[in-house]
Amino acid sequence: MEPIYLDNHATTKPDPRVVESMLPYLVDIYGNASSRQHEYGWKAEAAVEWGRGQLASLLGARAGEIVFTGGATESINLSLKGACAAAPRGKRHVVSVATEHRAVLDVMDELSRAGYVVSIAPVDHSGLVSPEVLEDLITDETVLVSVMLANNEIGTLGPVADIAARCHRRGVLVHTDATQAVGHILVNVEHLGVDLLSCSAHKMYGPKGVGALYVRGGSGAGLLRPQMHGGGQERGLRSGTPNVPGIVGFGRAAQIAREEMEMESVRVGGMRDLLVERLREALPDITENGCLDRRLPHNASITFHGALADAVMMAMKGVAVSSGSACSSNLALPSHVLQAIGLDREAVLSTVRFGLSRFTTADEIAAAADRTAAAVIEVRSKRPVRWRSAVNEEQPKG
Ligand SMILES: *Cc1c(COP(=O)(O)O)cnc(C)c1O
Repeated sequence: MEPIYLDNHATTKPDPRVVESMLPYLVDIYGNASSRQHEYGWKAEAAVEWGRGQLASLLGARAGEIVFTGGATESINLSLKGACAAAPRGKRHVVSVATEHRAVLDVMDELSRAGYVVSIAPVDHSGLVSPEVLEDLITDETVLVSVMLANNEIGTLGPVADIAARCHRRGVLVHTDATQAVGHILVNVEHLGVDLLSCSAHKMYGPKGVGALYVRGGSGAGLLRPQMHGGGQERGLRSGTPNVPGIVGFGRAAQIAREEMEMESVRVGGMRDLLVERLREALPDITENGCLDRRLPHNASITFHGALADAVMMAMKGVAVSSGSACSSNLALPSHVLQAIGLDREAVLSTVRFGLSRFTTADEIAAAADRTAAAVIEVRSKRPVRWRSAVNEEQPKG
């Protein structure tokens, strides 16, 4: 039997309707969307523009403001590096937040190596950044502020609209990493007031390897210098032959989200609450991380005190979950997000992230809760009083 999949912040199962929409473009309609001389090219181009329209409509943007990329990591690189490169000389300061995804924080590190000054705002225990504190970091040299819409570990929803309004009063651009939010909760670029927004198909039941960047005003607005040079595709902002099947799948995923997201988020949020309730019945001393009244409906980040997450996951049969994010798990570093919200080392290492999806069923939730609780009880029983020292011996594996 397949394990119950509750790692939907790492990636989601492609919706069968998405896969179906892509197939013709993998088999018969394989033209290059840039080929202007024949029907293969025209059909591919029409498909790309259909996908662009679907995503634009989900985000409340104009089609000309959507740039397709190879994923959110690329969108983030393009928007942060591209905005810095397009900024006037003398503007060499950028601002972000401690709980951002590695894709943002690593670009910030790279900008700092290139001579930019980087300020990182802290968050409170629920993962919220204070708009006032963030605004105080802005100087006359600030190019841009990057603040995520939804956190990929604890689900906290950032006060992006408030921050964007403050930034605009100071003439500073705003980028938001909305990868975890788009397709799961209502995301509208006008309501948010952001200039740049990154998202990714595979986090919203679409295929891997395709993402998008919303650019206010499109390429003509001059907010960005391209970071990929070549054939001038995507109105010059992202050269390279577009991933036609991927873009069609992304468009279909956006269309489904627009139609079903509202009802679905209520249903999925109800199952998440059920999961936590059932876990708490078996294990009254667990703690739930994040901001309980401002978070993604499909996220639960739970600390099982006295049971290391790695051991729990080893003891647990048939549930696919993770500790920390998929990306930082590769490096086996303790989660920077959980550290930023003030968890001590023991709590950081004893935290499991659950991510639900539209495919999750109530039966799966009941089974997952029971298996998790049994695993935690087993792990705790094997480390009677000594678990605390075991935490200190636990070294990140290289
Ligand atoms: C997954 C994720 C990314 C990276 O997206 P890719 O499309 O895999 O490059 C960036 N930011 C957040 C918040 C994510 O969850």
